[in-house]
Amino acid sequence: MANDTIVAPATPPGEAAVAITRLSGPQSLALAAGHFRGRRSPETSPTHRILHGTFLDGAGHPIDTVLLSVFRAPRSYTGEDVVEISSHGGPEIPRSIFETLVAAGARPARAGEFTERAYRNGKLDLAQAEAVAALVRARSQRAARAARAALGGELSRRIESLDRALVSLLAEVEARIDFPADVAEVLDGEALASRAAEVAEPIRGWLAGLPAARRRDQGLSVALVGRPNVGKSSLLNALLGFERAIVSAIPGTTRDTVEASIWLDGLELRLTDTAGLRATGDPLEVLSRERAERVAEESDLAVLVLDRSAALVEEDRAALALVATRPVLVAWNKADLACAARPPADLGRAARVVAEVETVAVRPGGVEPLRAALGTAARHAAGEAAGEELPTTSARQEGLLREALADLDRAESGLRADGLFDLIAVDLTDARRALGEVIGRGVDGALVAAIFSRFCIGK
Ligand code: GDP
Repeated sequence: MANDTIVAPATPPGEAAVAITRLSGPQSLALAAGHFRGRRSPETSPTHRILHGTFLDGAGHPIDTVLLSVFRAPRSYTGEDVVEISSHGGPEIPRSIFETLVAAGARPARAGEFTERAYRNGKLDLAQAEAVAALVRARSQRAARAARAALGGELSRRIESLDRALVSLLAEVEARIDFPADVAEVLDGEALASRAAEVAEPIRGWLAGLPAARRRDQGLSVALVGRPNVGKSSLLNALLGFERAIVSAIPGTTRDTVEASIWLDGLELRLTDTAGLRATGDPLEVLSRERAERVAEESDLAVLVLDRSAALVEEDRAALALVATRPVLVAWNKADLACAARPPADLGRAARVVAEVETVAVRPGGVEPLRAALGTAARHAAGEAAGEELPTTSARQEGLLREALADLDRAESGLRADGLFDLIAVDLTDARRALGEVIGRGVDGALVAAIFSRFCIGK
């Protein structure tokens, strides 16, 4: 039923200061009012008000002190009456509120159902609705910016503007179908082809920028590699700003890999502290060594940590060999101690060294040269922004843009080759359909439902 009242937690479960339970539908205000004791009832409250009071269970016992946010149709996220109940977080209170409302007649919402209602009520088009999911999922500044732009209608506006150009081109092509004797037909094929190319051009540019954008959204994996005791764990902790890895003076403390993320200029760097590389027969050492090898091989970037205060040994060489195929940042650690290591003359040849820095992992600020070098290397590895970006937020949109581009390219060559206008009109119509589907035009109900089912509950 599309017109019932739905309820769902809007915040993730678990211990938290605040949790939000969301109601949407014609019974929202009545359901909330039935379990709320406060100075004002949500049923008589104007829209966009916050009411303070106590939320009661079915038996009239207080569950929690809450704030109710009241949004009346159509001025709400879904376009329906909406009440958001802010309570204390934790597993128990939000669950009691939710169950009370379900017992009172609200239906637990399906994944994405709030946004689906917003779409069906014309609050958002499909591109904007998909942007909501993308915004929640965003793990990079760029991804969040793109999703925000799409949510604000940027993608939809660009698509509409291309569509307008397509409509006028299609009208001209169709006019030539109806009046085949028109002399203009032979003369202006090239001019029409250029207009098709003009529509195709921005789409081609956007699609070309997608791989780099996606790489930036996914972030980079960075392996910290080096023999035991050179200070890998200390560097990781210093980069993170808190104790994540266990640091000790006993070589080989980090048996397994330790992972943590830092964000530099909006790029996520997933750092993995690999186990120290030691040549012993200990089966555990062998396992962790294999693990370190895999991490190093799969990393986008490696940080080779060397101890500047000690002469280089065979195990340092082994670490170097491990990262031979990756872009490598060399961190000469323990730069506070007397220098004893001599950089191997063939360091640059043995690996793709992108930068060398000196660090003091145990001193405040001593890791900053590494952080700066990581930022530069990461930006480089992720690829700089290639031209203008379209705020696309889903693989579905990308597939449709590729379809539209192929149709436009076909129409363009048809026009240049004085092809049949009937066929060219078909290509242009197909391109319009693909572009229209990006924003939800002509998309059937089953597809819409499938798109929203990938959302999280409460969205
Ligand atoms: P890992 O085995 O490579 O992870 O090395 P750890 O981070 O566990 O460090 C080994 C030892 O070196 C610890 O006692 C650290 O306190 C010490 N250490 C790490 N970095 C520095 C540094 O820059 N200067 C000095 N003096 N000691 C360091």
